[in-house]
Amino acid sequence: DTYLNPNYSFDNFIEGDCNRLARSAGFAVAQRPGLTSFNPLMVYGGVGLGKTHLVQAIGNYIRNHFEDKVVMYVSSEKFTNQFINSIRNNVLQDFTDFYMKVDVLVIDDVQFLSGKEKTQDTFFHIFNHLHQLGKQIIMTSDRPPRELQGLQDRLLSRFKWGLTADLQTPDFETRIAIIQKKLQAEGIFIEYDVIEYVAHSVNTNVRELEGVIISLMAQASLTRQNIDVELAKNTLKNIVMNEEKEVTIDTIQEIVADFFTISIADLKSKSRKKENVYPRQLAMFLAKEFTDLPLKSIGYHFGGRDHSTVIHSIQCVNELMGSDSDVEETILKLRSYFK
Ligand code: ADP
Ligand code: MG
Repeated sequence: DTYLNPNYSFDNFIEGDCNRLARSAGFAVAQRPGLTSFNPLMVYGGVGLGKTHLVQAIGNYIRNHFEDKVVMYVSSEKFTNQFINSIRNNVLQDFTDFYMKVDVLVIDDVQFLSGKEKTQDTFFHIFNHLHQLGKQIIMTSDRPPRELQGLQDRLLSRFKWGLTADLQTPDFETRIAIIQKKLQAEGIFIEYDVIEYVAHSVNTNVRELEGVIISLMAQASLTRQNIDVELAKNTLKNIVMNEEKEVTIDTIQEIVADFFTISIADLKSKSRKKENVYPRQLAMFLAKEFTDLPLKSIGYHFGGRDHSTVIHSIQCVNELMGSDSDVEETILKLRSYFK
């Protein structure tokens, strides 16, 4: 038993800017285990960002493409428990032999080994043994190796022998793609408006995003109700936004930049291009409405502009809003993300 979950594959791991390096390094390792310079491969990132999915996808790929290779996936917690039991039962040798025989070792959440000196000693020996034989080692951690306190230096220095790649919070496009893939897999249709709303509102991690999609899908199929933005909003309120979130200027900038698919740097820049000026003015307008910041401070957050620029921006938006129904609609939509 390799403890791999066959549902985690590269096919259903959505690629985006947030995970491109880790994914392609992972795929390279999957195709040539032990033969790339990515050994060990260390994938790190916060909770729910796809570490387990990615490393299990590597394991599954190897198992499906290399029949003779023994792939072992284990969480660091389980590894530790097995180690402790093997000591208790006087079978430590069996334990180490077992791990020294694998061709691919995937060990998840190594931050858990922190402070566990004896477990680390044994892992160190297993690691060295496998690495010398050119066996592939793949690890995950919730933080970069340099921040792994409580891990022995000799282990940390070995972690850096190969490649360290991070998983970041998925960007807006990736969130859209993940939602669409999920809906497609379940054969459920939901209006694009709603997908967009969810992608804007849930920008923490993929696990949370999936939670929201699952309850939306459940509502759609159980109640046979059409899922609209209003319903999505209520669902969201019940799961993610149970604590009142304070709207910060950073959130406003993120959401507005996402909305217009420009970068936050462009939003704050000196650029006078129309595609940047309008979103920037809107973002200042929303910052005035949803934060308590004085105008001067809002200007400061937009590339050090002065308060008269902020006033001017707010006036522009007010005028546009009265004369252009598209602008009005955009503002209503953006406002709905903060309420
Ligand atoms: P972690 O181990 O980093 O806490 P997981 O690998 O358990 O996160 O991922 C949480 C959930 O999000 C899983 O259901 C996983 O399938 C899904 N997920 C994460 N990243 C992606 C992605 N890029 N594409 C599709 N699903 C993803
Ligand atoms: Mg995990």
